[in-house]
Amino acid sequence: MNHDEFRRNAHELVDWMADYLANVRGYPVKAQTKPNEVLSQLPKSPPPNGESFETIFDDFEQTIIPGMTHWQHPGFFAYFPANSSPPSLLAEMLTSTLGAQCMSWQTSPAATELEERVMQWLGQMIGLPDSFTGVIQDTASTATLCAILTAREKITNFAVNDRGFDSTAKYALYCSTETHSSIEKAAKIAGFGRKSLRKIAVDQNFAMIPQGLENAIKADLTAGVKPVAVIATIGTTGSTAIDPLRPIAEICQRHKIWLHVDAAFAGTALILPETRWMSDGIEMADSFVFNPHKWMFINFDCSAYFVKDAEALVRTFEILPEYLKTAEGDRVKNYRDWGIQLGRRFRALKLWFVIRSYGVEGLQKLVRHHLRLAVDLKQRIDSSGDFELLAPRSVNLLCFRYHPKGIDDLEQLNAINERLLETVNATGKIYITHTKLNGAYTLRMVIAQTQVTESDVETAWDLICSTARMMMH
Ligand SMILES: *Cc1c(COP(=O)(O)O)cnc(C)c1O
Repeated sequence: MNHDEFRRNAHELVDWMADYLANVRGYPVKAQTKPNEVLSQLPKSPPPNGESFETIFDDFEQTIIPGMTHWQHPGFFAYFPANSSPPSLLAEMLTSTLGAQCMSWQTSPAATELEERVMQWLGQMIGLPDSFTGVIQDTASTATLCAILTAREKITNFAVNDRGFDSTAKYALYCSTETHSSIEKAAKIAGFGRKSLRKIAVDQNFAMIPQGLENAIKADLTAGVKPVAVIATIGTTGSTAIDPLRPIAEICQRHKIWLHVDAAFAGTALILPETRWMSDGIEMADSFVFNPHKWMFINFDCSAYFVKDAEALVRTFEILPEYLKTAEGDRVKNYRDWGIQLGRRFRALKLWFVIRSYGVEGLQKLVRHHLRLAVDLKQRIDSSGDFELLAPRSVNLLCFRYHPKGIDDLEQLNAINERLLETVNATGKIYITHTKLNGAYTLRMVIAQTQVTESDVETAWDLICSTARMMMH
C-alpha cells in the first residue's frame, strides 16, 4: 500500500467510523454468534500473496462485524462499560500513526512529559492530594499487581527481588469477599499464593467491615504472619459497594500496612465534588487505581495508577542493562521502570485530547447525566411492584431482580431471572449481565454509555418489564 492508496483507504475508513458511531444503535448490541462461527469462515492458512484492501475490508464487514459485541451501543448496560469518544478515537489514530514505543524519556520525550502532566491533571480532577504521583498502566489488574509487588519489596527490604522468598516467612494480604478477581490473581503472581489472601466479610451494603479487618490482622500477627497490604475497593464489581476508606486506612496506618485502593470503575465519579465522599480518607492510602478506559470516555486501554512512594515503585521494577542506559540519567523519568512492561504505548495523548476537548466541566456534565439516569431507573424499579433492588445504588449501577407475587423460593426466582436475562439479551436490543448477591441471581444494569439517552434507558426498562411479565403468562 503506497502513500496515495493509504490516503484513499484511510478517508474511506474515517467515513465508515463516523457512520458506525452515528448508526451503532442499528446493530444487535450483543453478538448473536455461535461458538466457532467466525473461526470456520477464516481460511486455515495465511494468504501467500497480498490481497487488496477492498477484499480485506469486505471480509471485515461480512465476517468480523457480525461477530462483534457493540460496546459503544447505547443499549450496552453489561459488565462495566469501556466507553469511548470521538476525541479519544482521533488521538488513537495519531498514536498508531506515530507508532512510537515510549519506554523511556529518550524514545519520545514528549510522550513522557505529556504523561507526567496529564496524570497531574487527572489527580487534581479526582481530588487526590499532591503527595501522589501518577503513571499510566494498561489495566487495573496490572496496576494492582504493581502495588502488591511494591508492598512486598518494601516489607522485605527489597529482599524478594534479590533472593526470592525466605522459606520461613509468612505473609498475608487482605480484601473483602466482594473484591475483584484481579486481587487474587495478583496474590498468586506475586508469589504470596491464594491462601495468603484474607477475604474479610462485608456488611448488608456489601462493604468491607473494618472490625473484621482489624480482627484478621491481629490473628495473623499473633500467629507470626506479616500483613503486607490491604486492598480496599471504591465501587466493587458486583454491586459498586464502597468500602469505608477512612476506618480501613486508620487500621493500616496503625499496623503500618500498605493500603491500595481499587476504584477501577467508580473512580471516574470522583471528578464530581458531590461524589467525593467515596474517597474520604484517601490521603492515608499508599496507592490508588482507576480506569479512564471504563467510564471516562477514553477508549481501552488506559488505567491511571497513583502511588505515594514512587521511589519504591521504581526500585521494585528498575533494571538497567547497558543497552538501556541514556545520558539524561536522573533528570528524566523513564516509565519503563514504573511497571512491568518495557514497551509502552503513547496513551497520554488520548487523555490529553479528551480532557481538553470536553473540559473538566464537560466531563462532569456527562457523568452527572449518567448518575441522573441511574436515579430515574432506581425510581422505576422501586415503584414497579414486581421488581426489587438487591443492593443500594451508589453510582450508576442498578442491581435488581424480577420478583413476581407468590414466588418466594430462591432457586425458582434465580431460574426466572436467568431466563429473563437470556431472553432480553437475545433480542439484540440491549445487553445486561448478572452477578450473585447473597445467593440471589441479580441483574446488573450499568448506565455509562457515551451516547445513552433517557429514552434508551426507558426502552430498556420497558423491554425488561414486558419480557418478564410475558414469561409469567
Ligand atoms: C474492572 C475492574 C477491575 C479490572 O480492571 P482491568 O483494567 O480490566 O484489569 C478491577 N477492579 C475493579 C473494581 C473493576 O471494576
